[in-house]
Amino acid sequence: MDCIFCRIAAGEIPADVVARGEGALAFRDLNPQAPTHVLVIPRHHVPSAGHLTDAERAPVLGELMRLAVEVAAQLGLADQGYRLVVNTGANGGQTVDHLHVHLLGGRQMRWPPG
Ligand code: AMP
Repeated sequence: MDCIFCRIAAGEIPADVVARGEGALAFRDLNPQAPTHVLVIPRHHVPSAGHLTDAERAPVLGELMRLAVEVAAQLGLADQGYRLVVNTGANGGQTVDHLHVHLLGGRQMRWPPG
């Protein structure tokens, strides 16, 4: 298995896990871009949001978002707010080809993003 996030989901490489869902896992980003930066991934490999076109796979994104919102509340971000980001493909800035939702919080976010 050469996908780093599949290896994290399998417990083969360590990660700072903050929450587990039935089909999803949340862990802290190694290179945080905000005081709180968590990644939420599906346990099963999906390369990107662009691969969620069929009805069977589409609910995966809902599960990731649900867990991200739960983690945001758990980590005390709900009142001040936070940002959920899904970088998709090269122009989207995706560098790891396993679908993930970024949960960023703990500072004021700017718009437009870079
Ligand atoms: P993206 O650029 O949207 O594909 O995001 C990939 C994210 O994964 C980056 O923010 C990286 O810092 C993060 N990352 C890469 N490898 C690891 C790892 N082993 N553990 C935690 N975060 C990682």
